[in-house]
Amino acid sequence: MNGFAYLRPGTVQEAVEAYSAHPGARYLAGGTNLVDLLKLGVEHPTVLIDVGRLPLDTVEDLPDGSLRVGATVRNSDLAADPRVRDRYPALSQSLLAGASGQLRNAATTGGNLLQRTRCPYFQDLGKPCNKRAPGTGCGAREGVHRDHAVLGHSAGCIATNPSDMAVALAALDAQIELYGSEGTRRLAVTDFHRLPGEHPERDTWIRPGELITAVLLPATTAGAPSAYRKARDRASYAFALASVAVVLRVEDGIVDQVGVAFGGLAHRPWRARHTELALLGAPATPAAFEGAIALELAHAEPLRDNAYKVPLARNLALDVLGRLAPTPAGV
Ligand code: SF4
Repeated sequence: MNGFAYLRPGTVQEAVEAYSAHPGARYLAGGTNLVDLLKLGVEHPTVLIDVGRLPLDTVEDLPDGSLRVGATVRNSDLAADPRVRDRYPALSQSLLAGASGQLRNAATTGGNLLQRTRCPYFQDLGKPCNKRAPGTGCGAREGVHRDHAVLGHSAGCIATNPSDMAVALAALDAQIELYGSEGTRRLAVTDFHRLPGEHPERDTWIRPGELITAVLLPATTAGAPSAYRKARDRASYAFALASVAVVLRVEDGIVDQVGVAFGGLAHRPWRARHTELALLGAPATPAAFEGAIALELAHAEPLRDNAYKVPLARNLALDVLGRLAPTPAGV
């Protein structure tokens, strides 16, 4: 591992200033992904700016009925927060489906959103990888890619985003609050992660030096029935082969509110807009669910060894939609 300096600023402002003053700096919070990448030689910062102890570790009710989650709230604390469990169950379930208990105790909300793909070629300095070393090629495309993307991939990269939490946040219409040299701004979670295109080295639309300060969970999805389901190779401590987060409110048998996002299928949480458009105002029936999911997954472009993800994602989504839909009277 290369040597680096270590700074621990006391405020968000100081952290952002320190980043601008030190080319090659990286923010460090829980360190559950970054420290691995340092040891592997994938990341080699000149300075680590420790933001893990900034006063961003609270979950607050806002007057408009939304919930503001500070960026350094630990994944385990967020999953256990009674307001999250009660109003946004998909978020709590997604957090508990991620990593291990020990990692969830250390990992932060902001860090979870910024974690990098676990593509094995990305983590191996001896292999070609356009994300780690632009222009070297994509080892996974003709190599081992059973876990890789079926939606939105490019010739240059077929990696998937590893976060469970981000999938639930996408379905719940959450926003991300960022602070940088130009002040504060907000981005929808669905607009935060990028598709790989010709620049797979860029995972998100975050600007250089910007710091995630909070995640905002809106009032519009508070209390709506929601759930998260994940398929993986082991019962715990494994990334999603496919996953789905669903928000579904049904009134008199008709879909009144719907949000569907897939994980494990793409370079970003995949909000299923085709599915949602088809379902909004439609009867909440198994046939409608099946047709709406098929519309979305018709856009899948599986690779040699990962076509199984398409029926897997379909079945996960049908299961969760079916469980959230109220049983018709008399059934
Ligand atoms: Fe690198 Fe992306 Fe290809 Fe993996 S899929 S080897 S991360 S370019």
